[in-house]
Amino acid sequence: MMNGRQYEESLKTRKPNVYYLGKRLDHPYDHPAIAPHVRTAAVTYDLAMDPAHADVMTAVSNLTGERISRFTHLFWSVDDLIRKTAMLRLAGQETGTCFQRCVGLDAANAIWSATWEIDRAKGTDYHARFRAFLTRMQREDLMSAGAMTDVKGDRSLPPWQQADPDLYVRIVGRKPGGIVIRGAKTHITGAVNSHEILVMPTLGLPPEGADYAVTCAVPVDAPGLTIVFGRQTNDERKEEGGRFDYGTPFGVVGGESTLIFDDVFVPDERVFMAGEGEFAGMLVDQFAAWHRANYGGCKAGNADVLLGAASLLAEVHGTIKNGMVKDKLTEIVHLVETNFAGAIGSSALGKQLPAGNWLVDPLLANTVKQNVTRFVYQVARLAHDVGGGLLSTLPSDADFQNGEIGKSLTKYFAGKQGFSTDDKRKLCRYIEGMTSVATLVEALHGAGSPQAQRIVMLRQANLPEKAKLARKVIGLGKK
Ligand SMILES: Cc1cc2nc3c(=O)[nH]c(=O)nc-3n(C[C@H](O)[C@H](O)[C@H](O)COP(=O)(O)OP(=O)(O)OC[C@H]3O[C@@H](n4cnc5c(N)ncnc54)[C@H](O)[C@@H]3O)c2cc1C
Repeated sequence: MMNGRQYEESLKTRKPNVYYLGKRLDHPYDHPAIAPHVRTAAVTYDLAMDPAHADVMTAVSNLTGERISRFTHLFWSVDDLIRKTAMLRLAGQETGTCFQRCVGLDAANAIWSATWEIDRAKGTDYHARFRAFLTRMQREDLMSAGAMTDVKGDRSLPPWQQADPDLYVRIVGRKPGGIVIRGAKTHITGAVNSHEILVMPTLGLPPEGADYAVTCAVPVDAPGLTIVFGRQTNDERKEEGGRFDYGTPFGVVGGESTLIFDDVFVPDERVFMAGEGEFAGMLVDQFAAWHRANYGGCKAGNADVLLGAASLLAEVHGTIKNGMVKDKLTEIVHLVETNFAGAIGSSALGKQLPAGNWLVDPLLANTVKQNVTRFVYQVARLAHDVGGGLLSTLPSDADFQNGEIGKSLTKYFAGKQGFSTDDKRKLCRYIEGMTSVATLVEALHGAGSPQAQRIVMLRQANLPEKAKLARKVIGLGKK
């Protein structure tokens, strides 16, 4: 396994084609907009090397028998699902933000079971290819991004009826030894600082959409792949180098990018689905179930830090002993733990798939994510309430550093004795960042917008079965 520093070094041997603010970056990993996201992911590597966290952060591979990072592990039991949730909470607590590695983990598990099913039905050899690929991921402790979401153009039309057929990633050529793909995936967390991109279809596909049924692994620096790093919350503040105005040494949200695949050649050994659209829906559903349950873990970890920051700021304000303030903090605890319980519950009720790995309970998993789409907003509102208007109006660090006005600002923004004005500013900025629109939108749309969960919830709730129960218990049709 690598530690954080080795992970950062390993990235520097890659030469991805990265753009940000209209410029091509020669050294993307050192760029002030990207470096915080690299540092955040590096924390997950350091945690895995810490013996105190070995049970949660590492696992014994069912492929090699070797101890590996849990971020490259297949979910091989209910215990693995529960420990994964614990790992996400821990990493969320240690970074206070998105640490970017869960999408690739869930993608690997979804590809594992989808390839197994395709091979069983069609006699292909995708599963053996993926097993070899994943074994290398585990041995080399690589980070992968999960790239499912297409740019999608007109949402009312399927991929093959779009005015431009490239609005969903598709196979545009089949050559001896591999396939050629074209299109764009967007919002991809941690893509720029991953070693590998796991490309997956974004929806189930009938035969006319077969070219869009493509799952494969693309190295981050593959020829033809361009990565456009998105604007992040308060990104100019990162470039000012100000810990104060940015609020944390880590990123806010996961450093999302748009990936443009301009006729990228993918060799056969990296292709895990190429036209079998009837298996795309299964892959998407399973990926989504694992991924939606995650939010009860990572968001709980982030909220632990946010709750801590809100309570400290209440202490600085001298309001912490007030019963109403305590009640608001209690409400945050209630919201966060409700979600964590859902994630643990969906893991505890997991079921083994024919491919051997374990799937969380889809109804509970989707309910977790549905709650996250609301609870994270409610937690933010409560943190804003407790924190006060300074969260949005605090003068800049440059003003605090100014020789003429800095001293006055420090004097007038003092809080309770025992806390410095600087500490107060740091707390305000952290809460600002972690309750910003980027964090809220991630909670709303990451792992699928609210409607996506509601569709699965209604399907999984099995209304006819519930109606049968009601008929029996109430005695409908009986005299
Ligand atoms: C911070 C962040 C990180 C993310 N990370 C990743 C990642 O790592 N990998 C990845 O693959 N994806 C990632 N995503 C993408 C995420 O899964 C999508 O944002 C989500 O699926 C919604 O898709 P969209 O953004 O295209 O929104 P849209 O699909 O445009 O949805 C917008 C609204 O339109 C509605 N809608 C959509 N289609 C229809 C329709 N046909 N009819 C009626 N209403 C419709 C939706 O319900 C929603 O209310 C991330 C997103 C965010 C915000």
